[in-house]
Order: sequence, then C-alpha cells, then structure tokens
Amino acid sequence: MTSLQKPPGPAELQAERQRATFPVRQMTYYLDGGEKQTKLKERIMLQFERDPVWQVSDQHDLTLQEIRERSMAKVRRAAYHVANEPMHVFKQRMELISVLDPGTWTRIGVHYGLFFGALRGGATPEQFSYWAQKGAVTLNGMVGCFAMTELGHGSNVSGLETTATYDETSDEFVIHTPSLTATKWWIGGAAQTATHSVVFAQLYVKGKCYGVKNFVVPLRDPETFELKPGIVIGDIGAKMGRHGTDNGYIQFTHVRIPRSYMLMKHTKVNRNGDVKEPPLQQLTYGALIQGRVAMVVDSGAIAKKALTIAIRYAAIRRQFGLKAGEPETKILDYVIHQYRLMPLLAQAFAMHFTGIEVSRMYEELMDSMETLQPGDKELNDVLEKLKEMHGTSAGLKAFSTWSTLNIIDQCRQACGGHGYSAYTGLASLYSDFAVHCTWEGDNTILTLQGGRYLISCYREAKAGKSQAGGVAYLNNLDKLLNKRCSAKSAEEVSTLEVVEEAFWLVAAQVVKKAGEDFEAGVKRGLREDESYEECSQARLFATKIHSLGYLFHRFKGAIQRSPAELQPILNKLCRLYGLYAIAENSGPFLQYGYFTPLQVDWIRATVTSLCKDVRNDAISLTDSFNYSDFMLNSPLGRADGTAYEAYFGMVQKAHKAGAVPAYFQKEIYPLLHRKLEADDVLELDEEDE
Ligand SMILES: Cc1cc2nc3c(=O)[nH]c(=O)nc-3n(C[C@H](O)[C@H](O)[C@H](O)COP(=O)(O)OP(=O)(O)OC[C@H]3O[C@@H](n4cnc5c(N)ncnc54)[C@H](O)[C@@H]3O)c2cc1C
Repeated sequence: MTSLQKPPGPAELQAERQRATFPVRQMTYYLDGGEKQTKLKERIMLQFERDPVWQVSDQHDLTLQEIRERSMAKVRRAAYHVANEPMHVFKQRMELISVLDPGTWTRIGVHYGLFFGALRGGATPEQFSYWAQKGAVTLNGMVGCFAMTELGHGSNVSGLETTATYDETSDEFVIHTPSLTATKWWIGGAAQTATHSVVFAQLYVKGKCYGVKNFVVPLRDPETFELKPGIVIGDIGAKMGRHGTDNGYIQFTHVRIPRSYMLMKHTKVNRNGDVKEPPLQQLTYGALIQGRVAMVVDSGAIAKKALTIAIRYAAIRRQFGLKAGEPETKILDYVIHQYRLMPLLAQAFAMHFTGIEVSRMYEELMDSMETLQPGDKELNDVLEKLKEMHGTSAGLKAFSTWSTLNIIDQCRQACGGHGYSAYTGLASLYSDFAVHCTWEGDNTILTLQGGRYLISCYREAKAGKSQAGGVAYLNNLDKLLNKRCSAKSAEEVSTLEVVEEAFWLVAAQVVKKAGEDFEAGVKRGLREDESYEECSQARLFATKIHSLGYLFHRFKGAIQRSPAELQPILNKLCRLYGLYAIAENSGPFLQYGYFTPLQVDWIRATVTSLCKDVRNDAISLTDSFNYSDFMLNSPLGRADGTAYEAYFGMVQKAHKAGAVPAYFQKEIYPLLHRKLEADDVLELDEEDE
C-alpha cells in the first residue's frame, strides 16, 4: 500500500515565517497596546476556545432557531462576565466576540451598546440608577432593545411617526403607533429577547410637538414573557446575515408609561406639563459618535481576519508553473495577486491605528463633556472638538466600512472556489459585515454629513477662523494650494512627507470646490439646504479624500510612536497605503497639479515594488494580528498551513460521505423509475451518426 503524498502547507508557511524582517511578537504588542493587553486577549481567546458555549465550527449547518438559541446562551455568558470583570476587560471581550461571532456581538450590543448607551446618554442620574437597579447593568430582570427605525423612516429621525403624548390627568405618557409606516422595524432583540425598549417618539405636550425624544417602554413580562397590553411584536424573519440576532417589529396601541420613563437628561417635562429644552442641543450628538467609532475599530479587526485567511492560503496554494519541471507557483508569488492583497493589508493597518486614535479622542471628549455646564470656560473648545469628532467620524465610519466590505470580498475572490464555501468563513464574514454600511447611519448619508462639516470648516477658515485637528490643512490655503511636488524620481515621490503634503493639498482643493459650489448655489438664490443638496456629489468626494488622508495621517502618527525595530516595516506599509490610495484616485491629484503624469507613473511603479517587498513579510504580518485558529474559524487560514486537511476534515465531519438523501424515495426514485410514454422516448437518428 502506498502512503498518500502530504498536501502542501506546513513547510510553506514555515519558510515564509523565516523571511520576516521585523520582530512579530513586538508588532503584536504594539498593535494591541502593550504586552499586558496581548496576554489579556490571548486569555480571552483561550476561554472562548475551551468553552463549549462558544463553539462555532459547526455554525454553518445550523438552522436559524438553533443559531438564535446558541447566541442566547452566549448572551448569558456575556452577562456573567459583565458582572464579574472590570469594564476594560469586558470591552476587550466584546471586540473579540465581534470577530468570532458577529451575530451574537449584535445581540449583546443592542442591549449594552444601544439600550444601555441610550440610558447613559439620555437618563438623569436618578433615572440611570433606577434602571440599573432594575437590571440594566447585569441583565438580571431586564433585557433592552432600541426602537428608533420605523417601516417608513430610518435615516430621517425627525420624520418618525410614533407619538408620546403627555396625559396630565394621570401623569403618564401614551405611546402610540398611528399608522402602518410608524411600526418600529428592524429592532434587534425585539423578536425574542427584550423585556424593555428605548422608544424614539414625537413628544406631544398640550397639543404642541417638541420633536423626537426617548422613552423606556416595558414590552414583556419578565416572568411569563407575555407581551404587555397594547403591544404587538413580530419577528421580521430571514435576513442577509447576523442570524444570531432576532430583529423584530413593534406596534404600540395607546400604551401608558409613567412620566418618569421619559429620559430627561436633556429635555425635561414636569408634572404640570412644562417642557424645558436643553441649552446645549449639540451635547446630545455624543451618543451617535460612539457607534461610528466602534464601526471604525471593527472595520480594522474584521479586515485583519479576512486578510489572515486569504494571505495564508495564498502562501500554500499553488497554481500553474512558470517553469517546466519545477513545482507550480504559489499564488502569493504572482505580481497581480500581490497587488490584490498587499495594499489591502496596508489599509487594514491604517484602519487599525485610526480606530485606536479615534477611540482615544472619543473617550477624552466624553470625559470632558460629562461635567460640562453652560458658561464653563472650556465650553467652546469642547464644542469645537465635538463638532470635529461628529463630522470626521461620519466620513471615517463610511469609508472604513466600505473598505472592509471590499477587503472581505477581494479576499474571498483571492481564495478562488474555496472562498465561496461557507466553511472557509469569508462568505458569512461578508454577509455579516455588510450591514455596517447601513446601520448607525447609512454610509452615503454620513458622507454627506461629513461634507457639510467640511464645507462649514472651509467657510470658517476663509472668514479667518483658525481650524484645528484633522482640518488644520484648511488654514493658510493660499500658501498650501500653490505647492507642487518637486520629486525627480520614484524614490523621491514616494516618501511619507510627499504623500502627506499631497493629501493636505488635494483634500483642501476638493473641500474648497465643495465650498465654492455651495456658495455659488446660495448666490443663485437657493436656500442653504437646497444648495447643500445641489453640491452632494462634491460633498461626498470631499469627504472621501479627507477620510483617506485622515487614515494616512493617523497611520503616519502611529509610526512615529512605534518601537524603532518596527518602523521600517510600518514605514513601507504606510507608504503603500498612501501611494495606493493616490494611484487608485489619481484624478484630483493630477487635476489640481500636485503631481505630474510622470510622477503618477512613478507612484504606480513604487506601489508594485512595495507590494513585492511587503509580500516577504506578509505571513509574519498576518501572524502579528495574533488571531487563534479558533477565532479565524477558517481552514484556509490555519496557522500551521494544514488548510487542505482541515477543510476536508470539516466537510467530512459535517456531511457523511455516500449518504443516501432523505428525499431519495420521495423525489429521486420516482424520477429515475418513472414509466415513459411512447412519445417521450427519443429514437437515435441513425442518419446523424
Ligand atoms: C440588520 C439590521 C439591524 C438593525 N437594527 C436596528 C435596531 O436595533 N434599532 C433600530 O432602531 N434600527 C435598526 N436598524 C435600522 C437601521 O438603523 C436603518 O435601516 C438605517 O439607519 C438606514 O435607514 P433606512 O433603512 O431608513 O434607509 P433610508 O434612509 O430609507 O435609505 C434608503 C437609501 O436612500 C438613500 N438616502 C436616504 N436619504 C438620502 C438623502 N438625504 N440623500 C441621499 N440619499 C439618501 C440612502 O443612502 C439609502 O441608500 C437595523 C437595520 C438592519 C439592516
């Protein structure tokens, strides 16, 4: 008996690892924020791996109800952890859950991110401690959901139709769904999990509408799980991904809640029906930003997962041979395969570092807002930062999630046919991730918001008000816009400094163009909102270039802070990210004359040579992301290179070879053994033979 030849894999990855030009473990520490953080992540990953509750390897063959039951068991585990570990550990756990099981992450997230986030952002301290005692922190007694979107409205929150009418006689609000389109729709956790909801509804007091406010509405009895009187909830059923989360619809028919269930940190309604609006309306933006920042972080994390799978597979997959008699070529060695994956690897680093930076900025901002009062001397400074964070996070959320969705699909295609198998993990990664482009603000709408912010910064700068932070390039426009790249070679054109200046100048130009289009519309007699609408395309484009540049600048900053031994590889990756972004969007860089066509040629050539260079470190870079095999849950991404064995084993385990299908007797046998009518029998035409 001859023994089977071993499939390629382990030796390939081992050889790749020997090519590393940087200390991989140091890179992991730097990416994670230190050795301690890496150890924490490893501890949590091991806990997942050993705990049967987190088992994921068979998830592709489960029914919807089985997935939901499993995800509920994981929610229970998460509730245990939230009550028993420090918040920073739980946050880390949640980031990893998002990589391991996005559907469950969402099911936990609708409570802790959305419901609890709404309490934190909208409840008075007394209200907050009331809901905390009811179980909002530990899930002991209540699970929350977040009912903003309706069948007829999502993005346009001010157009929501659900009403909350104050009844002075009983000191209650009456929550009501006045039409079919007012039905709350897409509400995560509503279908099977939630006992309470934060409901967005138009506040009516004494016949006057005060706009949309938030109300906590009990939905189900936590003992019996029966719906409360006046509430109808249904399951909205099958969807593209995130199957672990139960999305539902809710209708309210004159449901009464105590007045104190309106979240009154900002707008207040007293017993007599007097309404007090908040002096600083902008402070309510804070809650919106949190979700966007989380999406930027998640974009980096998921991109790293997809790239680990595709790049490890590319290092063991061989297809065609360039030289007769020699082994076939690794697909990672094809120039075009390098061009398909290496810039995306660089982009993942850019998103990772940007995620860290914007999270830090967000936390700082929230801390300073916590204690802010009208009249404080830091007020203006904080409001400026809030404005910047709001505008910048809108564009970053949109372009990071779009980029990662593209990265996942490119990785899937880079794995050929096997990328299409559910077992290799990229298909569900795509369908789970896609919704990031829609929720927490539809991406297109966010880019338009970002563009509005950039136009207002441009107009302020033009009027002489100095701009800080990520839009500081709008100061001294006269000087900046005259700059031209003086590089005389491919080497000179591809430094971090040239790329940095190119992004400043071109971002300034496209923002200026959007601002001028807007002003021209106003001059023509359009109202401001009409003029913003007219220049939508220019707004979107300005946000795109600003966001791409912002990612580059954050990446460059991260190199400066990194240990010396990591700087050469990070420098290459950062240049690759920046130059690739310029090459792919070369129009405005040529149009505004910063680069000449010859310089763009040099940039393209440099991108190709950087791809080749980074390729040598590609496996080590994916190793530095430090996802365990369990977290990747993809045989193609196995760290030891046993992709073929693992893939075959997974398929074999899930499907018994040679099994007769259960519907054989019902459908196949009658087909094969039916009696043919004389007319159905085809005669071979002898003459045609
Ligand atoms: C899986 C999933 C889970 C969700 N979970 C929740 C939840 O728990 N709670 C909740 O409240 N909501 C939830 N949502 C709803 C989600 O937040 C909304 O679907 C999202 O905000 C988009 O709103 P919309 O569906 O109304 O889209 P629309 O606003 O109707 O957008 C439709 C299209 O029109 C475009 N468009 C709209 N307005 C403009 C404009 N002014 N200019 C240019 N283009 C425009 C958009 O770009 C988009 O392409 C969930 C959605 C999904 C898919």
